[in-house]
Amino acid sequence: MMSKRTYFKVTSHSVRSIFGYVLLISLISACSNLKLKTFEFPEPIETSTREIQYQEKKEYTINDIIFADNQFDGARLNDFTQLNDSTYQVTILPENEPINQSPYFAFRIWSKHAQQVYVKLNYPTSKHRYVPKLSTDGKIWKPIDSTAYQLVDSTKNALLKIDLTSEKLWISAQEIKTSAEAMQWSKQIATHKDVRFKVIGKSKLKRDLIGLDVYTGDPKGKDIIVVLSRQHPPEVTGYLAMQSFVEELLQDSRLARDFRSKYRVLVYPLVNPDGVDLGHWRHNAGGIDLNRDWAYYRQEEVKAIVNTVVNAAKSSKSNVILGLDFHSTQEDLYYSFSDEMHSDIYPFKDYWMEAIDDAIPNYTPDDQPFPLNQPISKGWFYKQFNAESLTYEIGDETPRNFIDLKARVAAKEMMRLLILR
Ligand SMILES: [Zn+2]
Repeated sequence: MMSKRTYFKVTSHSVRSIFGYVLLISLISACSNLKLKTFEFPEPIETSTREIQYQEKKEYTINDIIFADNQFDGARLNDFTQLNDSTYQVTILPENEPINQSPYFAFRIWSKHAQQVYVKLNYPTSKHRYVPKLSTDGKIWKPIDSTAYQLVDSTKNALLKIDLTSEKLWISAQEIKTSAEAMQWSKQIATHKDVRFKVIGKSKLKRDLIGLDVYTGDPKGKDIIVVLSRQHPPEVTGYLAMQSFVEELLQDSRLARDFRSKYRVLVYPLVNPDGVDLGHWRHNAGGIDLNRDWAYYRQEEVKAIVNTVVNAAKSSKSNVILGLDFHSTQEDLYYSFSDEMHSDIYPFKDYWMEAIDDAIPNYTPDDQPFPLNQPISKGWFYKQFNAESLTYEIGDETPRNFIDLKARVAAKEMMRLLILR
């Protein structure tokens, strides 16, 4: 009797552990065998890792009077020389080539004695694009006065008139927003009860890839909106729009609360942290434009995000319905789907554009429908999930208060439309 009971107990225990073991094994293999679907696009792009050139990090000195340096994250300064008595030349080069024309620069300059000098921005392989922004602390920025700035050499290069002091003056293509700033912002956002902060993976150079997971209650069955930003390092205005957009989703309003109860938002605020900290024009540390890698995921950053999004949708048995990718270009516009592409929430985009149009006086959204050509994130959302997707583009020099206003309106109108779905 005694032995029988013991026997039974042992057996039952063994059965349970075998069952548990099998379950564990199948869970592990489900995770590691999760095979990502890859996709064909009309214009495939080779995205295998390519070599990049690192800038030499140093302090430049001229006659022990004028100094310049690039010894901070987000810097880009490849050489500093004197051209004549009052003119100094900053040379700016990209991480590798061929590359899109986003000649980003960022450096500090100072002088032993207060004096006015000319600083020439010299782009051996490109053409001036960004209005220089000045700062004395690397935090508060303002565009250079238009009277102190002109294009030279048939508009290829730029000449700045600068008052130097012994205090370091920061001169940059855009406000400097490093990976440390993205981390700080994300952790602050994650103090909200509906936000979960996660490091979802590492970049090529082992910087954290941040993921924010926004919803109230249980994620089960909640349709998903994905927000991406900063695949391209200099695209700070798109990043600023993303921050305002996400902050609006977290308001304590009836609309935002109900939205978070019904939907889940996955936010990847800084897709390319290596490129941002290295002061790149466009690429990641693998020398690749990440927004051309959304077919085969050859770069770690894209692969980590694709994995996380696909897993999130699978495990909560929900669908991704909308992907928003924040970028910058010369003007504000929305790259949307062409009319023959019908996502699961078609024609959401048309209603959304109209709602933004109605809500902002004297502004009409510039909707630029585009067919699926290259393996960009917008195409991936459509192919993987039949989701609607837009590339949310902000102009390089769009007034910062308008970026904020428009992003908040866009967030509100998106919530209003989706909540009625
Ligand atoms: Zn971009």
